[in-house]
Amino acid sequence: MIDLCTLGTGGSIPLHTRALASLYVRNGARALLVDCGEGTQVEIGRLGWGFLRIEALLLTHYHADHCSGLPGLLLALTKSGRTEPLHIWGPPDLRRVVTGLRVIAPQLGYEPVLHELPMTGGAFEAAGLRVRAFPLDHGMPCLGYRFELDRPREFLPEKAQALGIPPRCWSVLQRGEAAEADGVRWKPEQVLGPERRGLSFVYATDTRPAQTIVEAGRNTDLMILEGMYGDEEDFPKALKNRHMLSRESAALAREAGTARLLLTHFSTAVEDPETLLPPARALFPETDCAFDGMTLTLGWTEKRMANGERKASPLI
Ligand SMILES: [Zn+2]
Ligand SMILES: [Zn+2]
Repeated sequence: MIDLCTLGTGGSIPLHTRALASLYVRNGARALLVDCGEGTQVEIGRLGWGFLRIEALLLTHYHADHCSGLPGLLLALTKSGRTEPLHIWGPPDLRRVVTGLRVIAPQLGYEPVLHELPMTGGAFEAAGLRVRAFPLDHGMPCLGYRFELDRPREFLPEKAQALGIPPRCWSVLQRGEAAEADGVRWKPEQVLGPERRGLSFVYATDTRPAQTIVEAGRNTDLMILEGMYGDEEDFPKALKNRHMLSRESAALAREAGTARLLLTHFSTAVEDPETLLPPARALFPETDCAFDGMTLTLGWTEKRMANGERKASPLI
């Protein structure tokens, strides 16, 4: 399971009703953040999922609404007792930006480890998730991220019993390792079910529509894209500022074949984000608007069918 919280859903400048961009991604005891707008530490405190488990920060780009909360976050992590390194990923210029922001947060109780990604993207692991960065079109270097969590194969106790495998070996085999008992060697394939589909989602804001977003979003459980504007009248502004209308985000979600679209990063001119929904839902009905502090869980539901087969479906 992956728990997500849209800590802030505003673009440009914070409103008293809307904090700036940041997404909290929790994978069990581990967590990462995507973007860190001004005041992100306040929103994390409000959420209550904790600071200590945050082991990575992924920045999309260096407009202030996405990274000006960094000094405060770095200090809050020190205050929470962090001693393990914090891994920070971002597009080219990461070192210069973080070094500049660190002038006002020089003393930390841990080491920030910087990973500057090329604009072609890259693959890495963060907080136990497989991550792939991909380029966006925002008039400055900007990356989107696709996240994946594998689902372990099911352990079949009836098979283990039928083969006479001693129960003390079961947990080893369940972990996917070979086990040995009384001179007999057992392989995990003997007691594990078939490969299962994992979980995946995409986060991509601050961009014009791009084919890289469609490719990254293929068969995902969720895409989190921007809802900067909704009105057709704002189209020239979207073109100029390299942002999208909600219908453009919806068109990308439809083409990618994702299960669900969540809009975030609303312009300060958008008073009620729900007004972005009709043009988006006309193209992709499974569209919703995020709000500050919204939480959702990506997971699975599983039913055992009458013929003994198990049918899994994603749960959001
Ligand atoms: Zn922005
Ligand atoms: Zn931006």
